[in-house]
Amino acid sequence: MKTTRIIQVGTVKFGGGLPVVLQSMAATKTTDIENTAETCQRLTDAGAGIVRVAVDTHDDAVAVKEIRKRTTANLSVDLQENYRLAEAVAPFVDKIRYNPGHLYHSDRELSWQAKVEWIVETARRHDCALRIGVNCGSLDPALAEADHLSQLIHSGAVQSADPSKTTDVFKGDGTISVALTSALQHAAFIDSLGFDCYCVSIKSSDPRSVFYANRHFAAARPDVPIHLGLTEAGLPPEGIEKTRVAMEPLLAANIGDTLRVSLTVPNERKAEEIEAGRLILQNVASGSIADINHWKPGNINIISCPGCSRVENKHFMHLAQQVRDSVTGFAVGNRLLTIAVMGCRVNGPGETDHADIGLWCGKSVVNLKSGTTLIGAYGYDEVVEKMLDLLARHVRAD
Ligand code: SF4
Repeated sequence: MKTTRIIQVGTVKFGGGLPVVLQSMAATKTTDIENTAETCQRLTDAGAGIVRVAVDTHDDAVAVKEIRKRTTANLSVDLQENYRLAEAVAPFVDKIRYNPGHLYHSDRELSWQAKVEWIVETARRHDCALRIGVNCGSLDPALAEADHLSQLIHSGAVQSADPSKTTDVFKGDGTISVALTSALQHAAFIDSLGFDCYCVSIKSSDPRSVFYANRHFAAARPDVPIHLGLTEAGLPPEGIEKTRVAMEPLLAANIGDTLRVSLTVPNERKAEEIEAGRLILQNVASGSIADINHWKPGNINIISCPGCSRVENKHFMHLAQQVRDSVTGFAVGNRLLTIAVMGCRVNGPGETDHADIGLWCGKSVVNLKSGTTLIGAYGYDEVVEKMLDLLARHVRAD
């Protein structure tokens, strides 16, 4: 039986064993008020209990006020680098997501605790719920540096094979240990402020890491509602399969209170995220659950973000598709390679660091990387060819 507390977000409640609430996110420019409001309403009509929009600028915040008037959606906003925008949007939304890994960008003279306290008081004043949204691609740098366990994983000292052991969280993805620490740290701090209308998410593009991290978080904090999701699950159908293998076993174990399936699909097709979420819930209800232990990615694992207001060039979705199509059948032998395709400069540079080959989109060029090394910036019409050359070099170097 779930023991998480119930929290209210506009007209919906989740936690405490209530039905899992499905979510999605608009991939429109937030300042495109009509299109964003229409998307929020369409997703709500398709079954989204909560719809998120990104807010990065004062203009975005002004737009949210207008969007609020045009939709009945329960609105959540995603704050990234500018946490101070919470004050401008809180009167018009039901939930605010902040990322602990982005707090350091502004007001550097203030501690993260001072910033979180300010966000919490803003939310409290306007009756908003909060989400502590931890993402492995954008972790708190101070915490990442100080994390001893990630040192252990890099040295190969942590090798437990038993998934019930804490150390197994770190298998295959050292960043997830920092993510888990960050989530626990922020939850404890918000508790100390006497605020309990919050949930937590710990996301990575690796299904196994997400599975173990959420399992450990739920064991440590059985009272805190969990927002489940994979970040950069990618294009369907692979993105749905990756999400299934992590989410179905978690939900079957009564872990998770709200769910977003992040798919790389154009804004007009965002309702597919709700359909995929519904499929996952049906599978859990019928006992037809994907097996995390037997999942392995293809030899070329493509991760790509779902896009949001921050996408810098609308060609991004098409590029992700082109990359997938161009590498399908590419002979890589026994090599396991990850290619990351990201839509913007906010999360693109960090998220692509963990991939063998990364492409992150700027306005007119795509930045091509090999691991953490920038190879060059290329036009949208030439970057796929450059990426294939790089892929061939990776395979030859094996
Ligand atoms: Fe949005 Fe950028 Fe994240 Fe893609 S990488 S979902 S465009 S913030």
